Amino acid sequence: MTKYVVELEQVFKHFGAVKAVNGLDLTLKPGEVLGLFGHNGAGKTTLMKLILGLFKPSLGKVSVLGAAPTSSQAATIRKNIGYLPENVSFYDQLTGHEVLAYFAELKNIPASKVNQLLMQVGLDQAAKRKVKTYSKGMRQRLGLAQAMLGSPKLLLLDEPTVGLDPVATHEFYQSVDKLKQQGCAVILCSHVLPGVEHHVSKVMIMAQGQVLAQGSINELRQQANLPIIIKTGGLTQQHLADMSLTEYIVSQHEQEIELAIPHQKQLAMLQQLATHPDLSQFEMVHASLEKLYLHYQHLPMQSLLEQVS
Ligand code: ATP
Repeated sequence: MTKYVVELEQVFKHFGAVKAVNGLDLTLKPGEVLGLFGHNGAGKTTLMKLILGLFKPSLGKVSVLGAAPTSSQAATIRKNIGYLPENVSFYDQLTGHEVLAYFAELKNIPASKVNQLLMQVGLDQAAKRKVKTYSKGMRQRLGLAQAMLGSPKLLLLDEPTVGLDPVATHEFYQSVDKLKQQGCAVILCSHVLPGVEHHVSKVMIMAQGQVLAQGSINELRQQANLPIIIKTGGLTQQHLADMSLTEYIVSQHEQEIELAIPHQKQLAMLQQLATHPDLSQFEMVHASLEKLYLHYQHLPMQSLLEQVS
């Protein structure tokens, strides 16, 4: 029995001339959360559909819970998978409770779980209302409840926080953390990068069907070799000139001077700065997921909003 929930080896999926997924390798263990990021058309949804068995690979091997998701065991495998599609839609005339009860029956899950899940996603008060009266965020919460039905071993979430308010987003990530602790593997695809990094075990950045970077955020930081930002207080331009650090200054606001220190010089410079007698404030800022994303996509910082939103 494989130790992986998901295993992809040199997977290709072509639609005519479009190389939607182009030679992709991936492994995901129980309890790992993968953040999958890329511009529109990068191949994220295609990858999820390959894992769900909705697409057959043009080439390569896809294995989910030890079997090909398009094989004769597919029905059994799917019972252990939760999926939240990008554009979630339900029968509008049914109530939230009826929708979940319907999916519970399809998955052979006791109806008693329905109320518990509705409570978990904050829809217990609206459970008896028809879905057509739900706001976008409420529909999204119902979609999440549907995906989480039956303690899945693998959860695939395409843009799960779209339409959710900040409190619901926070609650959603708490649910992800809980599922992770219970050993559920999660693939989370999102264009909203802030706030995600604390909840993912590893990250995959894609473009044009290919993987630009894959690993934990710390591994990506090391590979990217981006400068570390140091914010200092109490030091003047003269102090920094005396330490031959002027060239690393990136900004100055009153008492605070910000420096960008190259990765390979970090240790020596940190020691020099941290032991200066006039230093009153010191803060190290590591590259955020947004910065890493831009780095691997070869984009300048200002293009983040245009490209990622
Ligand atoms: P988005 O962020 O916009 O959802 P994505 O990263 O999920 O994008 P995909 O939906 O996987 O991207 O699409 C990858 C490429 O494959 C695109 O060029 C898309 O047009 C193409 N594609 C996806 N599904 C099909 C299909 N069924 N038939 C033909 N082309 C497809």
